[in-house]
Amino acid sequence: MTELPSVHIVGAGIVGLAIAATLQTRGHQVTLIERNEPGSGASLGNASGIAWTDVAPLASPGVWRKAPGWLLDPLGPLSVRPSYAPSILPWMLRFLSASRPSAFKRSVSAIAALNADALPAWERLWRDTGTGGRLRAEGCLDVFDKPAEIARARAGWQLQRDHGIEVKELDARAIREMEPDLGPGVAGGAFLPGWAHLDDPHAMCLDLERVVRERGGQILRGDVVSVIGTDGEARLQMRDGPVIQADKVVIACGAWSRPLAASLGEDVPLDTERGYNITVPEPGVSFRRFIMLAGYGFVMSPIARGLRIGGMVEFAGLKAPPNWARVDALVSRARRIAPSLSVEGGERWMGFRPSLPDSLPVISRSRRAPQVYYAFGHAHHGLTQAATTGELVAGMISGNRREIDLVPYAVDRF
Ligand SMILES: Cc1cc2nc3c(=O)[nH]c(=O)nc-3n(C[C@H](O)[C@H](O)[C@H](O)COP(=O)(O)OP(=O)(O)OC[C@H]3O[C@@H](n4cnc5c(N)ncnc54)[C@H](O)[C@@H]3O)c2cc1C
Repeated sequence: MTELPSVHIVGAGIVGLAIAATLQTRGHQVTLIERNEPGSGASLGNASGIAWTDVAPLASPGVWRKAPGWLLDPLGPLSVRPSYAPSILPWMLRFLSASRPSAFKRSVSAIAALNADALPAWERLWRDTGTGGRLRAEGCLDVFDKPAEIARARAGWQLQRDHGIEVKELDARAIREMEPDLGPGVAGGAFLPGWAHLDDPHAMCLDLERVVRERGGQILRGDVVSVIGTDGEARLQMRDGPVIQADKVVIACGAWSRPLAASLGEDVPLDTERGYNITVPEPGVSFRRFIMLAGYGFVMSPIARGLRIGGMVEFAGLKAPPNWARVDALVSRARRIAPSLSVEGGERWMGFRPSLPDSLPVISRSRRAPQVYYAFGHAHHGLTQAATTGELVAGMISGNRREIDLVPYAVDRF
């Protein structure tokens, strides 16, 4: 029997960890290389949604009409920091191109294909690794405070129904019966019973890290600065000097993946959509379900450590300090629909979503180095799509055919 190749995975966020655990289940030796703590990037503090019912990309027809407002409202749901505007311009142009109706349709199909398998893939990963028990399958309430926004949301709900997703439109009274701590500001919305979330996204990372170690996987602390690919193997240049030889390499560095792909000569237009939240241990309100306020670009997620209120999209790159005024803006908007909300003792967080202009990840073999694979750019859906990505990458490495067509996620699509 020929020995399976060993795999070095750079980046131990939820995507790298899910890939590592899946490869181990299929008999590969794995090494994760992480420059900080495992699960300390975007996977640390996200909203915890297994958001498989979301099928619409951020780039949608008509989005360009809203673009000028993004520059003018620094605390709005989507904003560009003026100092970062020149850097993000090429990404924005691709984003606008991805919002054309034909491109939008392609992105919707590709997101839906990954998301349709998201929960079943997580269930397989939980079963194979014994890490289940964190799922809260309570559904999601899409809530609005203006009737005009409900009317605008209907096209999105129809798109979801077209993909077999159950969406029940509800009036304000029905919503408040389901979640009595929502206040009179609620005008109506919809319930998506299929949506699910985890009780703690960081704990999920730590569970997988533990399993990877217990099964003999190594987790090395180190900063990879470049990848050198040859036909038969790949080498990783570490910042502190050594070069690591590898049979196969997976780049899963989230928002920091671009320079590693560039070191192989592959220029991927990856940038970051920064997101903010606050997690409150005793919020003074209690919700059973995930609450989404799409009109304001944020969510309220009841997780094990309290209520997590957050979202927003800020284009300001990887280096600018957080603008915590965004969290204050989030909280005052949240109080419009949950007036008793208290944020005393809340912990603020900012994370870097890894985002491509067409809202699709790169899940692909490198075109320059056949031993290197990419798995990054999952934007708003990294937790949702991590287990599916693990299976897809494992399938590419072992040469198995997959039911999901990988062409939409190819590295050279731009
Ligand atoms: C506010 C917010 C809310 C969100 N809510 C949700 C949600 O509800 N559902 C959902 O599915 N997704 C959500 N997301 C998105 C999700 O968090 C991300 O898509 C996901 O965490 C990305 O995982 P990752 O493993 O690719 O990246 P990360 O978790 O960022 O991990 C990348 C890792 O690579 C390491 N690394 C980087 N460069 C190197 C290098 N050169 N050498 C070694 N190590 C390196 C980093 O230290 C990091 O640990 C949210 C994001 C934000 C910001």
